[in-house]
Amino acid sequence: MIKEIQLRITLKEEEQPDILVLKSAIKLAIDRKDITGVKILRKSIDARKPKIIFNYKVAVYIKEPVPETSKYKFDYKDVSKAKPIHIIGFGPAGMYAALRCIELGFKPIVLERGKNVRDRRRDLKAINQDHFVNEDSNYCFGEGGAGTYSDGKLYTRSLKRGDVRRIFENLVYHGSTNQILVDAHPHIGTNKLPKVVQNIRETILKYGGEIHFETRVTDFIIKNNKIRALQLKNDEELTVEKVILATGHSARDIFYLLNKKRIAIEAKSFAMGVRVEHPQHIIDSIQYHCSSDRHELLPAASYGLVEQVRDRGVYSFCMCPGGFIVPAATANGEVVVNGMSPSKRNNLYANSGIVVEINADSDLPKYEQFGALKGLEYQKNLERLAFTSGGRTQVAPAQRLTDFVKGKLSNTLNDTSYQPGLKSAPLHSLLPKFIGGRLRKGFEAFGRKMKGYYTEEANIVGVESRTSSPISIPRNEQLQHPQISNLFPCGEGGGYAGGIVSAAMDGERCAEAATNNL
Ligand code: FAD
Repeated sequence: MIKEIQLRITLKEEEQPDILVLKSAIKLAIDRKDITGVKILRKSIDARKPKIIFNYKVAVYIKEPVPETSKYKFDYKDVSKAKPIHIIGFGPAGMYAALRCIELGFKPIVLERGKNVRDRRRDLKAINQDHFVNEDSNYCFGEGGAGTYSDGKLYTRSLKRGDVRRIFENLVYHGSTNQILVDAHPHIGTNKLPKVVQNIRETILKYGGEIHFETRVTDFIIKNNKIRALQLKNDEELTVEKVILATGHSARDIFYLLNKKRIAIEAKSFAMGVRVEHPQHIIDSIQYHCSSDRHELLPAASYGLVEQVRDRGVYSFCMCPGGFIVPAATANGEVVVNGMSPSKRNNLYANSGIVVEINADSDLPKYEQFGALKGLEYQKNLERLAFTSGGRTQVAPAQRLTDFVKGKLSNTLNDTSYQPGLKSAPLHSLLPKFIGGRLRKGFEAFGRKMKGYYTEEANIVGVESRTSSPISIPRNEQLQHPQISNLFPCGEGGGYAGGIVSAAMDGERCAEAATNNL
């Protein structure tokens, strides 16, 4: 017999090795010897009160063996001689489109502008140390896309859009830990992601797919409303049948290309702001109600904050406990910050994007001349502003949180995890009033919600501008572009995803659509 039950375990109890069996036996009023195994289905931490509780949902196996297998099978077959599907971009959307093509019996041919995970590392070092951005290989471009050297949080609000569990199981199949299957807030970590991405590449190659790195697509050759060929950066032309476009939200050249060729794109609402960085112990002490270091069984604490300021939401985005702020620009002449953390989340800082919603229809009147590209141009201007005010390198403009809210330049800044370094700048006056004013009110409100959050020990760092795509690429019910029948806009760049898991799910959907009726 199998019984699913909820268990509440205190911090002290959590230290006991057999606690789940013991508590299950008590709760079910059975002899513990009759329990053959306890499988954790879900685990979360309730830290709302000083007495911290681990909430478990478990399946208790009574007098029967615990099954080993998962209901998910990944049935990859040899597709080396099968019909090809071309996929542009090898981020989560492109990777999962390729894997799904193989399951469906089609040969994915992936074209990726960046380098493989290992060679990409050198370019990340160059951004951090030499302030040089390789425009094809950086924190957003390269094998695994923006998802490789990311934080690897796997939360998604897109539960209705696909089978989240299938993606998690596939990540485990490719080397991620089982822990992501049970944690309420699953996280892989930037140190573990490259191996998972490399394993995905190896599966694709093993079953006959192709992946071409350092192969940027520069043009579409179109005839009779169909892409006949892709032009590559070396001027080679590649004849194609179906194209999945999974180039992400930072591939501005692709948006410009579509616009130039009059292939419809649309301005979309998005969000921008800054990244705030606190010493992790401050966030721990607020969230875990402790005055000294957090208990060793507790992970670095996180938070999620939202406040309505006048007519717009101000909210935390991509919060990285025990993490680093990273330079996520994709071109020289711009500064963009983002965050990531290792699997153990054991760095000394907690960082989070704090952003303001920008409504593409009403908030950008001065940018109307750019049509569908208005949000992108606004975003670009802010990134250039960050570049010049940081001193024209990857050094980012920053201010103490309290000085930003009070509207005064910081004489000194706090230490930071951001490797290229920070420069004190008056972000309160540099940021557009629309964003800066709302952020200031938002931070004050966050200080009231989390006592100790509003502190001079925190820095804000500019700018957090790539939260989501400022552009969407339309598609019909068959996921085809309405004008170009063999083009399948996919993932975050199309406006169909907002993170690793939703991009992966969209990749699978596009593979299904592109292979339909072939
Ligand atoms: P991308 O990952 O952007 O991939 C697009 C790919 O297309 C890139 O590899 C690019 O090189 C390639 N490409 C672009 N143009 C061309 C071209 N012309 N020719 C050939 N190839 C091209 N999300 C989460 O869910 N959790 C997190 O914790 C998280 N942390 C993040 C931390 C950082 C630092 C960053 C930068 C992002 C983070 N994200 C996180 C966001 C997440 O990475 C993206 O949502 C996700 O990667 C989007 O997937 P995608 O496949 O749609 O696009």
